[in-house]
Amino acid sequence: MSEEFEYHLDTLAVRAGQERSQFGEHSEALYLSSSFVADNAAQAAARFTGVEPGFIYSRFTNPTVSLFQERLAALEGAEAAVATASGMSAILALCMGHLKAGDHILASQGMFGATMQLFNNWLSRFGVTASYVDATNPAAWADAVKPETKLFYLETPSNPLTEIADIAAISAVAKRHGAIMVVDNCFCSPALQQPLKLGADLVIHSATKYIDGQGRVLGGAVVGSKALVEPVYQFLRTAGPTLSAFNAWVLLKGLETLGIRMKAHCDNALALAQWLEQQPAVAKVYYPGLPSHPQHELAKRQQSGGGGVVSFELHGGQPAAWKLIDSVRLMSRTANLGDVKTTITHPYTTTHGRLTPEAKATAGIREGLVRISVGIEHIDDLKRDLQLGL
Ligand SMILES: *Cc1c(COP(=O)(O)O)cnc(C)c1O
Repeated sequence: MSEEFEYHLDTLAVRAGQERSQFGEHSEALYLSSSFVADNAAQAAARFTGVEPGFIYSRFTNPTVSLFQERLAALEGAEAAVATASGMSAILALCMGHLKAGDHILASQGMFGATMQLFNNWLSRFGVTASYVDATNPAAWADAVKPETKLFYLETPSNPLTEIADIAAISAVAKRHGAIMVVDNCFCSPALQQPLKLGADLVIHSATKYIDGQGRVLGGAVVGSKALVEPVYQFLRTAGPTLSAFNAWVLLKGLETLGIRMKAHCDNALALAQWLEQQPAVAKVYYPGLPSHPQHELAKRQQSGGGGVVSFELHGGQPAAWKLIDSVRLMSRTANLGDVKTTITHPYTTTHGRLTPEAKATAGIREGLVRISVGIEHIDDLKRDLQLGL
């Protein structure tokens, strides 16, 4: 690729970082090799000390993995990225690379359940504490910050209620306090939202979701400046939850269609959300692309589309929600999201089932709530699938 001008995201997703071997392969090569051979002892020594770039061992890095990292960094407009075995191992590596006993994480309420468990049940054993604030109110972040706050951590849009956090405003608060601002960009992917351009310091991905987009592999990444990615990489190469070359190769294929998939997800989700708003059985629809969403204007500034996740509340509570979920013939009854196949789930009894009733109430997860991750099937078929159960 010529570097003379800035390419568009759709082009970078297909081309960024590509280097060809002596065979001139057109599609990216998959290098299934655990280790790499040096020409001589001096070269091996130079590679181990980092004086000379080059591959040593696939726990450190691998040509297919490093191409995926480079391409993802280009899409987020970042200097560097490091890939991990899953989204959760990206978050663990972020914390291990940047935190020590005594540090505090300030995070948004209503985050991915395993992220909260990692902070509350595991990091707490090593002296790292976490507290949670309303992500939609930048002033709440400023009020809750402590001298020992090292990390600001948020997801936007949130799961499942699609609340929007103002990345630029909260980043400004983090900067004032010298904290690292981290955004989990899983729901939008770089095709819809680029948090680093809004002031965030690091982006987290569960590549398992929209980056693969076809439900095949797990993967994750931490993306940002070289200086902030380096400690995360150092933890990974020591501890080992790195991305496999095979998964990196699958994820490269996923990135190629990210732009057109996200457009299709957004178009379908908006059409479905508009249709749901007109159904008498539906009390309320949560979707950032709807003018009725309380942060619709902020979502329009910050994201180039509403995303693929739509949640809605049924008048009939849990019985109505379960009846709807049991009636679908096309949609998959699974909690996964970000797939070309539409999925439907009842957050109250699945993804958020382990929360206490009080915690569910605080998070706004009610018994009649249904979450749909809208896929790319034909919109008329999706509506008909829901119509039966509504
Ligand atoms: C799924 C998910 C994760 C965790 O990713 P895995 O690849 O399942 O480990 C983290 N954050 C969000 C928002 C997610 O949806």
